[in-house]
This record gives sequence, C-alpha cells and structure tokens, in this order.
Amino acid sequence: MTDLSAFSLEGKRIAVTGANTGIGQGIAVAIARAGGAVVGIGRSSMDETQRLVEAQGVAFEAEKVDISDTKAAVKLLQEIMAKRPLDGLVNNAGIIRRADAINFTEEDWDEVMNVNLKSLFFLSQAYGKACIEAGRRGRMVNIASLLSFQGGIRVPSYTASKHGVLGLTRLLANEWAAKGVNVNAIAPGYIETNNTEALRNDPARSKAILERIPAGRWGVPDDIGDAAVFLLAPASNYMHGAVIPVDGGWLAR
Ligand code: NAP
Repeated sequence: MTDLSAFSLEGKRIAVTGANTGIGQGIAVAIARAGGAVVGIGRSSMDETQRLVEAQGVAFEAEKVDISDTKAAVKLLQEIMAKRPLDGLVNNAGIIRRADAINFTEEDWDEVMNVNLKSLFFLSQAYGKACIEAGRRGRMVNIASLLSFQGGIRVPSYTASKHGVLGLTRLLANEWAAKGVNVNAIAPGYIETNNTEALRNDPARSKAILERIPAGRWGVPDDIGDAAVFLLAPASNYMHGAVIPVDGGWLAR
C-alpha cells in the first residue's frame, strides 16, 4: 500500500492570508484536502472559502484585517497563535498596480510595498518568533512571482516587492533553518485570478503571454495549492530557502 503520510496535513492548523479568492483560496482548499484546518486572514468575506474548506471535513476560521495595516495584522496573528499554535503560515495576500515607470506614483509604490513586502516580513517575524520561543516546528510559504526573477513591464513596485520576497525567503531560511522553521516560496506563473484580469482583458498581451507558456494554458489557483501542501508537509522537511516555480514552464523557456 502507498504511504502518503509525508504529504498529509492531518491535525495541522495553518493560516493563509488573502484566503477569500484566487491563489489563496486554492491553497486553503488544497490544505483542507490534505486534512489540515485553515485560518483565513483577510479583509473580505471568506464565506465561499469557508464552504469549500468545510466540505472537506475540516475546520475554517475567518479572521478579518486589512493587511496594509502592518501593526493590526501582526496583532491579529499573535491573537490567533495565542488561541492555539499554528503549524504553518502562508503569506499569500498581495496587490499589483500598473502604470508606466515614468508616471508611477508614490501612492502606488507604498500601497504595494506595504502589503506585499512590509506586512509579509512582520507577519513572518511574529510567526517565526512564536515558533522559536516555544521550541515548535514551523513552516512558512511565501508567494513570490515570476517577477521575483524577471523585470516585468509597468509594475515597478510589484517587481521590487516580489524580488524582496525572494530575498527575505532566503534570509529567513538562513536564520531559522537550524531552529526548526522551514521558510520556502512558490513562484506562480500566469494564473487566472483578479490579479491578472487586466492582462487577460488585453488581447495583445494575453496572446503574447499564452504563446510563451510551454504548457499552452494559463494556470489556475488549484495548480498552486498542492505545491503549497508539499511545502507545509513533512515531505519537505529538508527544504529551506527554496523557490518552486509553478508556471507551466515559463522560466524554463
Ligand atoms: P487576487 O485574486 O487579487 O488575490 C489577492 C488576495 O490578497 C485577495 O485575497 C485579497 O483580498 C488579498 N489582499 C490584498 N490586499 C489586502 C489587504 N490590504 N488586506 C487583506 N487582504 C488583502 O490575486 P492572486 O493572483 O490570487 O494573488 C495572490 C498572490 O499570488 C499575490 O501575492 C500575488 O502577487 C501572487 N501572484 C499571482 C500571480 C497571478 O498570475 N495571479 C502570479 C504570481 C504571483 P481582497 O479580495 O479583499 O482584495
């Protein structure tokens, strides 16, 4: 008989930021399929995710916060961990702003950096600190991007933030690997979510992107979910500071 226990999240409680939609919802549902309970952290109604997670027979807790308010987000995470420890944290919430570099505003810079990088770091800090102080094993998965490796077009703050996510993933792995906290990342390719709606609505950009994807299709949130399960499960015990592209082959091209 096949033993899949190294890929099981049974009995685990894992927080996912931005769990109401898109990739975060895909990850929440994949965690539930693997037997893990999910704590969704976000600013919008998570009713749909709650239904999908509970349909797998595991618990879902919805916790409301605007993650651009770093202090409020960290406080909420600490309260969640005070109730019961978290076996994993997925830093998924992220935003994008598009404009030519010569017209890009300070507001669009700050908004993106606050959610994608600043809050991601301080949530990571709170999570790692709690694990290390309690001597508990911990697992973090950061959602990076192809734009952690490439420049992109018309998305300067997004590219800067996602390069930063890759750097922080490696830095935190260096500091925490020996302390029992795994820190890794996933770099999704072009996935059909709200984040890429503008691209998909632009026929020229949409065609150019599709033609460059070896798999011949855009990704869907489910494509990312099982990679996250792997990084949250015992199967990836010896992985630290890795970034897994889930991109239909884009980076291989
Ligand atoms: P999405 O559908 O727009 O989801 C983004 C999530 O982040 C939503 O749950 C959103 O909540 C949440 N969020 C944004 N700002 C927030 C805030 N201030 N407070 C609380 N929650 C906030 O896009 P997605 O594609 O699933 O994005 C998820 C992650 O994947 C992001 O980090 C993104 O950069 C990354 N990514 C996406 C792609 C892609 O092709 N789609 C590729 C590479 C990386 P609301 O619904 O309330 O806004």
